[in-house]
Amino acid sequence: MNLKGKNVLVTGIASNRSISYAIAKILHENDANVIVSYQNDRLKDRVMKLLDELNINTNAYECDLSSDEGISTLKNNISTDHGNLDGIIHSAAFAPRDHLTGKYLDNVTRDGFVTAHDVSSYSFTALAKAFKDNLNEAASLVTLSYIGSNKVVQNYNVMGIAKASLESSVLYLADSLGDRRIRVNAVSAGPIKTLAAAGINGFNKILDVYQERSPIKDNISTEDVAKVVYFLLSDYSCAVTGQTIYVDNGFNIIGY
Ligand code: NAD
Repeated sequence: MNLKGKNVLVTGIASNRSISYAIAKILHENDANVIVSYQNDRLKDRVMKLLDELNINTNAYECDLSSDEGISTLKNNISTDHGNLDGIIHSAAFAPRDHLTGKYLDNVTRDGFVTAHDVSSYSFTALAKAFKDNLNEAASLVTLSYIGSNKVVQNYNVMGIAKASLESSVLYLADSLGDRRIRVNAVSAGPIKTLAAAGINGFNKILDVYQERSPIKDNISTEDVAKVVYFLLSDYSCAVTGQTIYVDNGFNIIGY
């Protein structure tokens, strides 16, 4: 299904390996109006270059998703430049690097816990809250999660707890917005070597384990994830909301 003329905000592009890069690509290829925000000034030139590479001819907006003021400015600017949104892709996460190694209890701190939850979970709710009245009927909100939310993944630690919070917020946001047929879902992706993933100690080993143990014996690509996100933005998923959908070659079904 074509998304011609649909306004979709894509957050979280940092490199051509970013999951949101592949999402922006598939959206653009299917005629959506891709609107991009990036974290900070340091990323600006890189993001503009990537958009150029994708032939996406648009201005991009700087927005630190841990700032309500930043999100409010983003909403005002997008509203003026593009009108209402039909979709929001939340593809951002952060936890201090020293929290993504060793045993959870040994390395967690109050500050690290709060930061991980603020950037990786609350920012999705903050976007929904800010854009609530600037969403068209039947808009679709999608966030990215990981299996570390409900199973122990060594070194993922506080990020797993933040992803559990994120997945739970998907339920409550779906309930909050459903009366306007607005849908809210998460895609739980298998491991992909991106900048964010590189911060997790022992990440390469996770890639090997997935390839070995998943029913489909392969690793996941950003395109695999982007296709499901596309489905969730399209009308083909009009009755799907409040879900966390795994795109992981089936890894999550395997016990022993
Ligand atoms: P990535 O490093 O390419 O993207 C992460 C993005 O988060 C970056 O663009 C970064 O700028 C942004 N970000 C961090 N803090 C921010 C802030 N305060 N404000 C705005 N943006 C901020 O990595 P990715 O793997 O594409 O990550 C995208 C999402 O996918 C994340 O939520 C991640 O947890 C999730 N995910 C990744 C994997 C994986 O293995 N790569 C698996 C499952 C889920």
